[in-house]
Amino acid sequence: MSGEQIKKKKVKVIKIDPSKCTGCRSCELICSASHATPKYGSTNPAKARIRVMFKPLENIYLPVMAGEYTPAECPGRYSIIIDGQEYGECAFCRASCPSRDLFKEPDSGLPLKCDLCESDPTLEKPLCVQWCYHEALTYEEREEEVTEEVKLDQMEVALESLVDRYGLEKIVEGIARMASKG
Ligand code: SF4
Ligand code: SF4
Repeated sequence: MSGEQIKKKKVKVIKIDPSKCTGCRSCELICSASHATPKYGSTNPAKARIRVMFKPLENIYLPVMAGEYTPAECPGRYSIIIDGQEYGECAFCRASCPSRDLFKEPDSGLPLKCDLCESDPTLEKPLCVQWCYHEALTYEEREEEVTEEVKLDQMEVALESLVDRYGLEKIVEGIARMASKG
């Protein structure tokens, strides 16, 4: 049995402005270093959870953060045209998927996913944002209202069914009687 309740949830967002990205790849370096073992012990962009797409000779750099792992390739593909230039079907995709090596740990093949630099203590801003001196990456925290399903535990379910059957007054009386008997 369940109900719904509206809750406020903190949403963390990294905004990307490709027009400011110079392709310096500092974001890739710091991300891979912060996830290295030992931490900051090495850098390897192939292990970063953010990759700057496209070659330097092309006219746009687009940082993309690794998203969810998917075990299957997309059944349909599409291409994107920006300023008259056509980009390939997978160019903007965040998924770690079987059709490419992107967002996979190079040694093990395990999927990589951006964890927003989760750490204890929490960082004021994710590291890629801190290291992006051109402000192509900016960080924002905001509150959003979300509807959450609330599951009642067994005791609550039992109590609810008793109230449905005998009415709230009778149940309260019964509990009071039991309490007075100690
Ligand atoms: S650090 Fe910023 S400017 Fe440099 S590649 Fe990354 S997103 Fe682009
Ligand atoms: S937020 Fe952290 S984990 Fe995610 S891409 Fe940036 S540096 Fe990497």
